[in-house]
Amino acid sequence: MTIVIAIDGPSGSGKSTVARAVAAELGRPVLDTGAMYRAVTLAVLETGAALDDAAACAAIARASDITVENGVTMLDGRDVSSEIRGPLVTGAVSIVSAHPEVREILVARQRAWVARHGGGVVEGRDIGTVVFPDATVKAFLVASDDERARRRHRDEMAAARAVAVEDVKAALDRRDAIDTGRAVSPLRPADDAIVIDTTKLDVDSVVADVVSRARSAEAR
Ligand code: C5P
Repeated sequence: MTIVIAIDGPSGSGKSTVARAVAAELGRPVLDTGAMYRAVTLAVLETGAALDDAAACAAIARASDITVENGVTMLDGRDVSSEIRGPLVTGAVSIVSAHPEVREILVARQRAWVARHGGGVVEGRDIGTVVFPDATVKAFLVASDDERARRRHRDEMAAARAVAVEDVKAALDRRDAIDTGRAVSPLRPADDAIVIDTTKLDVDSVVADVVSRARSAEAR
């Protein structure tokens, strides 16, 4: 049985941390689909194409060789793992990823990744709703706006990017609004997803919950 674990949610909800830990616990690979959208956005910015030019963004997505493995993101043979977390990409990624043509290209690659790996943990915004509607386990993580801003701010400081927490919160709000409001694949929990509020929960208990659901599905 091919096990696919979908972990969706907004930025700062704990998705990446939980996805990585669940994958390690189950001995399965993990795919960060946000890194794919970020890599395409970096390519668009480098080409100088307009962010709202859907056809140009799709052509760039199609032509870009992107791999995301073990936390390393490669774009056309170059390691862009840090660059894609910078403010320019973070500020532009929601605009580029709202283009249906871009999504179609990356969704096909995400499905190919899972087929190649024989399943895995897939982290994103639309994994349980669109990419893998039949996923074995669907978790949708949420957290309060303040807590999410605090976590993102901590990540930024750890990456030596000095920013004010208010600015992080404003950027987060903007990105949430675009991701939630877009016409195609908006950020929302699948009807059969378990919604987990991580504001006060520790990572270990969230991971244990998702892992035990995956194990009991596997045993069925
Ligand atoms: O997960 P991360 O915050 O790195 O994602 C960056 C952006 O990529 C999101 O804000 C969203 O616009 C886009 N994204 C998406 N669908 C996914 C994953 C990410 O639209 N499955």
